[in-house]
Formats: sequence, C-alpha cells, structure tokens
Amino acid sequence: MTSLLTLDEAQARVLELARPLPSEPVPVAEAGGRVTAEEIRARVDLPPFPSSAMDGFAVRAVDLPGTLLIAGESAAGRPHAAPLEPRSAVAISTGAVVPEGADAVVPVEVVARYDNRVEILQAAEEGAHVRPRGDDIAAGDVVVPAGTRLTPARLAATAASGIAELACRRRPRVAVLATGSELVAPGDELSPGQIYETNTLMLGAALAAEGADVLSEQPVADDEQALREALERGLAADVLVTSGGVSVGEHDLVRAVERELGVEEVFWRVSIKPGKPVSFGVRAGTLVFGLPGNPVSALVACELFVKPALRALQGLEHPLPRFEPGRLATALRRNEDRDEFVRARSSVDGDAVLLEPLLGQESHMIVRSGAADALVHVPRGNGELTAGSTVRWLRFAGA
Ligand code: AMP
Ligand code: MG
Repeated sequence: MTSLLTLDEAQARVLELARPLPSEPVPVAEAGGRVTAEEIRARVDLPPFPSSAMDGFAVRAVDLPGTLLIAGESAAGRPHAAPLEPRSAVAISTGAVVPEGADAVVPVEVVARYDNRVEILQAAEEGAHVRPRGDDIAAGDVVVPAGTRLTPARLAATAASGIAELACRRRPRVAVLATGSELVAPGDELSPGQIYETNTLMLGAALAAEGADVLSEQPVADDEQALREALERGLAADVLVTSGGVSVGEHDLVRAVERELGVEEVFWRVSIKPGKPVSFGVRAGTLVFGLPGNPVSALVACELFVKPALRALQGLEHPLPRFEPGRLATALRRNEDRDEFVRARSSVDGDAVLLEPLLGQESHMIVRSGAADALVHVPRGNGELTAGSTVRWLRFAGA
C-alpha cells in the first residue's frame, strides 16, 4: 500500500493536466461567479467626480464659521451648474457633485437653516466629507486581476468601473455519469438488491457550485456495451466524472472500458481514506475522473481532485482546497497507511474553531455525512490525535 500515490502527488498530476480553458466575452450582467481571463481596468475614475459623503452643505472651508447664502442645490444625478461664490453654500445630498470652488461639506445635522441662509458655527477642515475624484480607483488602473472569481463585490466593482463586457474563462462542461446495476431513481419502488442513486445529484450540485456547466447522464448498468456508449458520450465534455466501478470487483468495468476508448490512465488509487480507488486519466482534451461509488468516498474525492481541476480549468491561481487550522474536540485514531478525511461539525470556541468528528464515518453513510460542514485531515501515522490537537480542515461549500 505504501506504493500508492500520496494525495499531494496525485493532486499535482491532476493540476499538470488541467490547463485553463479558452476565454469568451461575457456581459457583466451574466458574469457573477465567472473567472476573469484578463485583468479588468477601470474605464473611468471612481468616483467620477468629487462627491459628497453626507447630506449637508458644500462650502469653502475659509468661509467658516459664518452665515452663508444658499446659492442652490446639488442633488444626486442633478449637479449645481455654477461654481461656488465666496460666502455662499450649496445644499448637497450624499453622492452628489461637490461644486467647483467648494472644498468641504458640512453635515446637515450641525447647521441652522433660515430661508436662503445657513448658519454654521463651527470650522470645517478642507476636504471634510468630500470624496475626491478617483479615490477608489483611477481610470486605467486594475479593478480585478486576471484569474479571479467574480464575487458579488467584484462584480459590483466591475460595473462601477463602467465595464459592460469582459473576458471570462469558458465554464468547464462536465459530464456526470453514475454506474451500477443496483441504482434506481428516487420515486421508483426498490426491488430486492436495489438502492436509490445519489451521486449524480450530489456531484452535479457540488460541481455546478464550482462553476461547471453540468450535463447529468442517466445512470448506466455494469454492462460493457452500455458503459461503452455512455462513456463515449461523456468523453465529449471537458471533464467526465463517473462514480462506481473503479474498485477491484468483477463488475468494476469503468477503467477497462475507458482504456478501450483511448483514455490514458494517469493514476489509479491514492493513499487516502475514503476515496482510495479514485482513478484519473485523460483523452485528448478531456479529463476523466473515476470516483468510487460509495457516496461519501465520491464526495471526498470530488473535493480533493475534481473541484481543484475545475478551478484550474477556469484559470484560478490557487486551485487546491484551502485547509484552515482548527482544534479537535475529541481524539481521533490515525490510520497507518492512509491520510484520512473525517467528516465533522465545526463551531467557534473563543478564537479557535472546534471540530467535532461525527459518529458513523463509514463511506456508505451519506446521511450521517450530510450533517457535516467540515472535512478534517488526519495525516497518516501511528497512535492518535488527542483532543485539542491542531488539525487542518476544509469547509464543505454551502454547508
Ligand atoms: P462501487 O464503487 O461500484 O463498488 O460501489 C460501492 C458502493 O457504492 C456500493 O455499495 C454501491 O451500491 C454504492 N453506489 C455506487 N454508486 C452509487 C450511486 N450512484 N448512488 C448511491 N450509491 C452508489
Ligand atoms: Mg458498482
């Protein structure tokens, strides 16, 4: 077993082959969650004009304290046309243009207004409550670097900078195919020996959340001819993800049929638990992942291999899962040969995250795993990690 690839080695092989997909133009309104293929530069200064940070009066600081003539109003979207004369003020709203000649805004809360005059008893510093033109970003500067996922805030930054269309990596097209003669769809009656199929839905949801365009295939029986047809169809995608049929049983046919179809296997089996039988190969431009059928194994292998590949295909700079430090709530026995990934619930304990491993860590126990929001890495070795040990853990997206 020591001859199996380690997780790091296996992930490195996946990333070597997961090159960024071509880019395509995307309207900003459809770019949420997409990954930039080129840096985005501002078309305008932001803010595009000196603007008020408060509702109040635009003034010349040198005129204060004093009573000033109200020369007009500058509202959001409706600037005051004329420059500000000495000893006068312009009523101004938040986000409105600070008129030429004005260098400070006095909040409405600290003034007294009498008809067309305003009495201001305190001094103001030059620049007070004025947002200078371009203080967020200057025209031509980089708003979002290349290889960045457009979060809601970055999407807003892009729109604020006047960008209507931008270059994004094409979304990876991912075919998901469950294999197993025992699988039936929820809603059907179970005949003896059958179980409900879970992996198409689970993997489809996980991969769509990672930016994939998911094509869910109908589950296929452990039959060479049926597998050949279904796999050939799936190989048209950028990524083919199968579940089941990659272990050492007589009916585990996926790898053999893939080989026939020209898939070059890069690795099979990795020293992790669960997920050991995972396979990875490539045919032309298609990355091919064979995940084990046990739902928990498929889930873990998806986190450790398929999602990083999707991130790399989208051109993200750091495609590997981001593990964070936390503390174990209870002791965990280490596995001598394999790195283990234990499902747990996280909670905040002072300034640390506490991880409570769930009961029922077997790889068919998807219901128990469903209660987990964390995957704790238990490095291979002897003995146990005691309660309170520092561990690395990964958050399940959306949990
Ligand atoms: P396999 O990897 O094909 O040997 O399957 C391992 C275990 O996972 C078996 O108990 C299968 O019945 C179960 N299994 C395989 N595929 C699925 C699936 N798509 N949904 C739920 N269970 C599955
Ligand atoms: Mg099977």
